[in-house]
Amino acid sequence: MRVPERLLLLGHPVSHSLSPRIQNAALDAAQIAARYEALDVDPASFEETLRTLSDGRAAGNVTVPFKERAFAACKVVTPLARRVGAVNTWWVADDGLLHGDNTDVGGFDWMVRREIAEPRALSIGLIGAGGAAAAVLAAIERWPNCLAHVWNRTPERARSLCERFGSVAHPVDDIGVVAGADVVVNATSIGLKDDSLPIDLALIRRESVVFDLVYRPGETRFVRELRQRGVRATDGLPMLVEQAALAFEKWFGITADRAAMWSAVA
Ligand code: NAP
Repeated sequence: MRVPERLLLLGHPVSHSLSPRIQNAALDAAQIAARYEALDVDPASFEETLRTLSDGRAAGNVTVPFKERAFAACKVVTPLARRVGAVNTWWVADDGLLHGDNTDVGGFDWMVRREIAEPRALSIGLIGAGGAAAAVLAAIERWPNCLAHVWNRTPERARSLCERFGSVAHPVDDIGVVAGADVVVNATSIGLKDDSLPIDLALIRRESVVFDLVYRPGETRFVRELRQRGVRATDGLPMLVEQAALAFEKWFGITADRAAMWSAVA
């Protein structure tokens, strides 16, 4: 394994990201001198930037809007990244080639298992049909007898995503079907920049377990207000920390200090 000398998060924009704090805490805990930085990349030069960095012993992550382009740029991708069609973690392996994986799937799976030890025979209401929704469906595919009802603002996108995950997902036109599920997931970016809500809170049942992939300091309004109503709801921070730990383990081949990563954002 080629140990990276530099770690970068490539996105546009990236200034809001907590990833540098989380990854630098893991690097410090492992006494690795490399630093992790966020780099705001001009969309016109993403591929060139990735090529230059990977030639220079760097590795890293990719965030919105580049995960699909990173998938296309990698020479070798894991089966999971292929299933999702997106790469969020990249590195150069001993073969000298650019490799990519998708640790969002493992991050989401871990976040759900904190609340539901063995996810099985569940209905899942999924709002959104972008890259994060694809990672959610790739996790659900591994859970026995689960079915996702997918609603998206742009219905054609939900339909085409469900075609790719036909055995576990079907599109719905009525968001009420999503709200009535055992597990409800917000995989849109609603709530990231303001207090808007992905769904009318009154539609969500008290027995449902809700996951918002979005995270904000002080939690999202969606999660805060659901909790006030007695619903079990979690924002995207546990997923963010776990996907980061899984990426660290890809780069360095050692276990990430998750407690240190958590303390950096607690
Ligand atoms: P994406 O591919 O750009 O997809 C965005 C999704 O949000 C689409 O379904 C889009 O609907 C929907 N959307 C955006 N604005 C909307 C609005 N005003 N009203 C209704 N729907 C709207 O992005 P992504 O990669 O899937 O990421 C989605 C979110 O997940 C981001 O906020 C990201 O931060 C979060 N995320 C969190 C983690 C974590 O570790 N916690 C990991 C990955 C992603 P249309 O198709 O109609 O445009």
